[in-house]
Amino acid sequence: HLESLQQLVDVPSVTLDGKEIELKANISSVKELEQALKTGARGVGLFRTEFLYMDRNSLPPEEEQFEVYKQVAEMLDGQSLVIRTLDAGGDKDIHYIDLPEEENPFLGYRAIRISLDREELFKTQLRAILRASHYGHVKIMYPFISSVQEFREANRLLEQAKQELRERNVPFDEEIKVGIMIEVPAAAMTADLLAREADFFSIGTNDLVQYLLAVDRMNEHIAHLYDPFHPAVIRLLRQTIEAAQQCGIPVSVCGELAGDPKVLPMWLGFGIEELSMSVKTLLPLKERLLKSSVEHSRRVVEDIRHCTGSDEIRRLLEQCYNNSH
Ligand code: PEP
Ligand code: MG
Repeated sequence: HLESLQQLVDVPSVTLDGKEIELKANISSVKELEQALKTGARGVGLFRTEFLYMDRNSLPPEEEQFEVYKQVAEMLDGQSLVIRTLDAGGDKDIHYIDLPEEENPFLGYRAIRISLDREELFKTQLRAILRASHYGHVKIMYPFISSVQEFREANRLLEQAKQELRERNVPFDEEIKVGIMIEVPAAAMTADLLAREADFFSIGTNDLVQYLLAVDRMNEHIAHLYDPFHPAVIRLLRQTIEAAQQCGIPVSVCGELAGDPKVLPMWLGFGIEELSMSVKTLLPLKERLLKSSVEHSRRVVEDIRHCTGSDEIRRLLEQCYNNSH
């Protein structure tokens, strides 16, 4: 089976009814990018930058970060690269950042909250990303945004970082796109407001499902409750995607559910055109995609609106595959 999957590397990712879906990679290192390129990924939809901050004793300087971002941008050779700013805290401990002892780290000092609190840390990263944007198709994405005000505050610091570079006469892409990771239910609920200000959304289902259903994504005792087909999840996803579509901004998915073949009919039915996933799931997902139909998925997704439970929804979505080939 591995060999037959390997043959799909250069096959365009198009559904039975002719819709092209961009399949991108989630990476956290240059090494993972090499694998992603061998797998036929069309760009990077999520570059997790935490690894740059780990296994060391002090913050990575701007120059060092710039070199890595630039290398990744150049390796992508014009295909787009979404760089997510630091997502520290939660389960990602970075010892020298001096995170507080917290009762509930997942509800605490984390991601953009740290960046907005530690302006120099944040602006150093932003300058490094901006500089790399001169060498490829780079976009910026903020993690864990939970309000419009937070997004504006992050952009205010981005403006400062840009101004600092202009003063140094350092080139960067003045038109760089800035997006929001939708992974906090509050952001999803206010997607219509955020969509007016953001250039794009990427839905982080790992955290979104965890916070929406109050189910720790790492806790094996309640793993069965981590349910992508819970009607609450489906409603919130639908609402978020529709808000982006109504505002005319691109929306992609970058959580693990992006690479889950069982969930694929839902993404197709919702009109998602870009999925970003772990490299290992890319070819199996593409195999499924080639046998899927957007039209059929759309009809099934209409039918699941009124379902009361996930078993029923799961069954209906499975039929997408049994009927479409
Ligand atoms: C997510 O929350 O879905 C996501 C992609 O981010 P991470 O897994 O890095 O928290
Ligand atoms: Mg997340």
